[in-house]
Amino acid sequence: MNKNYKKSIIQDDLREAINKTPCKKWGKWFNDAEEPYPCVCSVRDEYCIELELYHELQKVINLYNQEAYFKQALEEFELIDKQSSTALLSWIKRYQGIGSKLFFNTTITISRSSEKNDKLIIQLNPDEFSTVIQFQEIFTTV
Ligand SMILES: [Zn+2]
Repeated sequence: MNKNYKKSIIQDDLREAINKTPCKKWGKWFNDAEEPYPCVCSVRDEYCIELELYHELQKVINLYNQEAYFKQALEEFELIDKQSSTALLSWIKRYQGIGSKLFFNTTITISRSSEKNDKLIIQLNPDEFSTVIQFQEIFTTV
């Protein structure tokens, strides 16, 4: 089975799941890569929950795949003279694109029902994401 074939099966599954949701909020995310709004359905449809789970895990995988990039950023940071605001600012500027959009949390919480406060909670191992966590900490404090 080649990679593209596998990928198209996932795409088809996603499309099918999106069409089954009553809120259809995932359509824009799927078609135009727009960040979806939180679901406002009081009791959520299982497809909508599944799509959110897929979306959250996809984000985690993307971050995981960028580990080398975060590592490089941290190494560069180590070498900076911390007294020099010019050097710190240029580091921030270099990584602003990714840093300003990074809201990584090792706990993924997906609401199943807003009325019953029923949540699906996934706990990631912080050790596996230490580089990202460290980058995020430095970026927000600097
Ligand atoms: Zn929904």
